Amino acid sequence: MNEVDVFIFDCDGVIWRGDSVIDNVKETLAKLRKEGKKCFFVTNNSTKSRAGYKKKFDSLGLDVAAEEIFSSSFAVAAHFEQTKFLEKKPGKKVFVLGEIGVCDELDMIGVPWIGGPQDEGKVAPMQPGGKVDHDHDVGAVVVGFDRHINYYKIQYAQLCINENEDCEFIATNLDAVTHLTDAQEWAGNGSMVGAIKGCTGQEPNLVGKPSSLMIDYIADKENLDRSKICMVGDRLDTDILFGANNGLKTCLVLSGVTSEEKLLSDENKVTPDFYADSIADFFVKEAA
Ligand code: PLP
Ligand code: CA
Repeated sequence: MNEVDVFIFDCDGVIWRGDSVIDNVKETLAKLRKEGKKCFFVTNNSTKSRAGYKKKFDSLGLDVAAEEIFSSSFAVAAHFEQTKFLEKKPGKKVFVLGEIGVCDELDMIGVPWIGGPQDEGKVAPMQPGGKVDHDHDVGAVVVGFDRHINYYKIQYAQLCINENEDCEFIATNLDAVTHLTDAQEWAGNGSMVGAIKGCTGQEPNLVGKPSSLMIDYIADKENLDRSKICMVGDRLDTDILFGANNGLKTCLVLSGVTSEEKLLSDENKVTPDFYADSIADFFVKEAA
């Protein structure tokens, strides 16, 4: 605790599970802040914007500022700002294969988009002659989690990437499975990105964990010393890699998708610096 000034928390499996806050998280965050620790929250889930997550934190009774939240949808917008999309590709727009979170973040920075949740396959109607027309002014395709993905959206993304000159392919995250509900694992954005990789042969530019974009953004904006940051997450191949690849201390918590058995198994090659049952264990309980 003495070596760390800043905690970066993954969200699902660390702060909440689905729509329920994990036990004692509220109290733990309050204690960390009382001790002067800065807290940031980083999620690979692109279905909400930063403003959408602020509402979620509020609804769970967690006092978190919008500026402390970094979602992969926000990372898409940060990427377009960093690469000066509007300046470098004037008149171009983005095709979103994804939900409202990405679209809201693009609206915030004034980048025009098509597709998204409005599109239930209507963006690419089949023309007489068996052809689908696509917009030649699409300068980037963003693939995020989309519960309404269908063949025609895949075809549209394929046409934009393969036939438009200089069209970037961006993935919000590559999570293989997600925990939409506690009852089972659900196909994650890795499946949507996989569909577009499969028909284009292209590798996407990843903006979510474990890519460095979000930590570079946070460290730069807040002027942070990386050796004093601890990344806390429940997933080895996103959170712990994100921390370990980017010079942060890492702590795995067992309140999400990774069991102690999996962590300690011979097959696992990703080792966190610390691990705990949940963030509530950051403070040892005082004897009564
Ligand atoms: N993507 C989706 C669609 C999800 O539902 C989740 C978790 O529920 C995630 C990604 C992973 O989110 P996090 O990075 O907060 O664990
Ligand atoms: Ca997680």
